[in-house]
Amino acid sequence: MSPTPAKPVLVGDNDPATLRPSREEALKAVRTLLAWAGDNPDRPGLIDTPKRVVDAYGEWFDGYDADVAKELSRTFEDVQGYDDMVLLRDIEVESHCEHHMAPFLGKAYVAYIPNEKVVGISKLARVVEIFSRRLQTQETLTQLIAGAIESHLQPAGVAVLIDAEHQCMTTRGVHHRHVSTITTRFTGDFKTDAALKDRFLKLAQGR
Ligand SMILES: [Zn+2]
Repeated sequence: MSPTPAKPVLVGDNDPATLRPSREEALKAVRTLLAWAGDNPDRPGLIDTPKRVVDAYGEWFDGYDADVAKELSRTFEDVQGYDDMVLLRDIEVESHCEHHMAPFLGKAYVAYIPNEKVVGISKLARVVEIFSRRLQTQETLTQLIAGAIESHLQPAGVAVLIDAEHQCMTTRGVHHRHVSTITTRFTGDFKTDAALKDRFLKLAQGR
């Protein structure tokens, strides 16, 4: 019998029913990390730490249980001829890198040019939040946000810019403080129209 070919594993590709361990197992894993760091998980200050860490993980990674498609399913077609850029600036990004599970914090700028369909603007911020609350790289996060808007709204173009600081870079390894990483993704008109792309970048920077 030939082995089943490995299925590519994507961000959020986890069947909770079969792969997600129990809360008890997660608590034990945190205890193990505390002991591995060199501390005593039974001392009073740490006794409830596994519980707090597991609860925090529940919050930081609740994007796995959220559905982006659902958020973007309610669209409006009555835009009264509005056909210019819709841009959301300064959306807080609080995510964790998949390489170190360390936080990366910054801002996202998301724009699209409607093509008949528009979506409530809070939904765009919600899409950023859902994808942020999963493990990935900033590059993937940028692509996922653009891809979701692209496929659900079929706009004339999408632009996404993320500017973030990675704590895996500022607090460990090279210890480079205040280095921020910028990633961008442009599709449709934003890709082909240099003036439009330029306008997005200027507006994103508040100019
Ligand atoms: Zn990292």
